[in-house]
Amino acid sequence: MSQTATKPIPVPDDISAPFFDGARQGRLMLQHCTACSKWSFPVRERCPHCFAPKLEWRAASGRGTLYTFTIMHQVMNPGFASSVPYNVAQVDLEEGVRMVSNVIGISNDALKVGMKLEAVFEDVGENVSLPKFRPA
Ligand SMILES: [Zn+2]
Repeated sequence: MSQTATKPIPVPDDISAPFFDGARQGRLMLQHCTACSKWSFPVRERCPHCFAPKLEWRAASGRGTLYTFTIMHQVMNPGFASSVPYNVAQVDLEEGVRMVSNVIGISNDALKVGMKLEAVFEDVGENVSLPKFRPA
């Protein structure tokens, strides 16, 4: 019996559930501190800037800029075998946080640091969607 390997899928927990619920609905949700008015990512219980436990969820713009990227050619996990070569990108969001994702809808050869991007959402599991980015 053979089984096709699949990519690992994140499992939302109590803290990250609003991020994944938003992604499922096509919205990029980030935490915003009501004490110092700064955004943060990745998801956490306290503000990384002022340490206040006053993070609330807000919809982000979904707009960003490609900070840097790499192209993966090696298959480090069998679930990615059919995806190589693929890019892994760091995207600076307008809100001031940096997110690791993939840029889709463009060939890897056409990626340029500094290019404008916008979030799109890809279903990766029965109830899980992930933010990806495409040229804006
Ligand atoms: Zn804060």
